[in-house]
Amino acid sequence: MTYPKLEINLPKIYHNGKTLVEMCRKKGIEIAAVTKVFRGHPEIARVLVEAGVTMLADSRISNIKRLEGLEAHKMLIRIPMMSEIEELVEHVDISINSELEVMDRISEEALKRNKVHQVMLMVDLGDLREGLWEDEVESVVEKVLMMKGIQLVGLGANFGCYGGIIPERHTLEKLIAMKQGLEKKYGISIPYLSGGNSNSLHLIWEDQMPEGINHLRIGYPFVLAKEDVYDQVIEGLYDDAFRLYGEIVEIKNKPSVPIGKRGIDAFGNIPEFIDRGIRKRAIVALGRQDVRLEGITPKDEKVTILGASSDHLILDIHDSKTSYHVGDIMELKMNYGALLAVMTSDYVMKEIII
Ligand SMILES: *Cc1c(COP(=O)(O)O)cnc(C)c1O
Repeated sequence: MTYPKLEINLPKIYHNGKTLVEMCRKKGIEIAAVTKVFRGHPEIARVLVEAGVTMLADSRISNIKRLEGLEAHKMLIRIPMMSEIEELVEHVDISINSELEVMDRISEEALKRNKVHQVMLMVDLGDLREGLWEDEVESVVEKVLMMKGIQLVGLGANFGCYGGIIPERHTLEKLIAMKQGLEKKYGISIPYLSGGNSNSLHLIWEDQMPEGINHLRIGYPFVLAKEDVYDQVIEGLYDDAFRLYGEIVEIKNKPSVPIGKRGIDAFGNIPEFIDRGIRKRAIVALGRQDVRLEGITPKDEKVTILGASSDHLILDIHDSKTSYHVGDIMELKMNYGALLAVMTSDYVMKEIII
C-alpha cells in the first residue's frame, strides 16, 4: 500500500460508539450517529450500528444511499432541497425541515409512493442557521399536521454551526416548553426532542441536560473523541481511531528564507519568512490536494509545518529528537475539517483495520 494513507481502526470506532451510546442512554437520550465526516462509509457506519447506534444521520442523500442495508433509521440532517425530494422519500426515513413548501412536496411525493415520511421540525434557538423562528412554530405545526404524507416526529435545534452559540440548559428548556405547548394544543405526541449536536454533550457531563431532551445528533466525538465546547479528548474515548501517514521524500539543510526575486506562491499569496538560519527540513509527499493544511499537525511535537503546495508538505524537523530518513513515514494529526478533506480525497489510501 502506498502513501499518503489514512488508517481507520474499526475496533476503536466501535469502542467510541459503545461508550457514547451508553453514556447518552443512561440519560434517556438516543443518538443519531452523524456519518458525514466519513462520507457515509458503510463499514464504519456498520461498526457504529453494532455498537448500539439505532439512527444514522447525514447531510447528503448520496452518503445515506451508501448506508443501505444497515439496520438503523436513516436521517437527513440538512434541510432538503426541493430538487431532491424524490430521492429523499425513497432513501430517507426522517428529515429535518423548516419550509412549508418543501414539506408540502415531501408529503405529496410520499403519498404517491404510499409512504409516510417522518419530519423533525427545526427551531432556531439563536445560532441563526436553519430553523423556524419561534413565532412561526405554531402556525407551521398546524399546517404540517394536515399533510397526509408526513408524520411530525420531533422538534430539534442546532447550535455552534453559524453563530457559535453554546447550548445552555435554559435554551433547551424553551424547546421542551414548546413541545409541551404543542402537544397540549393539538392533542398530539411529539416523540423526539433533539437537543443539538456534540456541542450539547457538556450538558450531560455538567448534569445540566434538562429532562425531556431525548435525542442528539453526534458526529465529531465518534471519530476524533472531541467536541467544540471543551475541545479536549473526551475521557474514555480513543482519539486515534483515524491516523494519517505520509512518506518523506527529501531531507536537506536549507536556509529559512527563499533566495531571489520574490513573487507570489502557487496559491496567489505573498509568503513571508522569518530568518532562523539554516534549518533541517523534510518534504512529505502529501499536499493541499490531500489534506486541509490548516487542520493538520505533526504527531512529533518538535516538528513544525513550514508550508505546503498541492503535492508537497514542507516540514521543519531541526529540533526533533527523532532522526528521520528519506522513506520514513511521518504521522500527522487531523482536526475535523482535515479528516473531512482526507476522507473525500481519492489520493489518500484508506486502510481499514478490523
Ligand atoms: C454536522 C451536524 C451534526 C453533527 O455535529 P457534530 O459536531 O459532528 O457532533 C448535527 N446536526 C446537524 C444539523 C449537523 O449538520
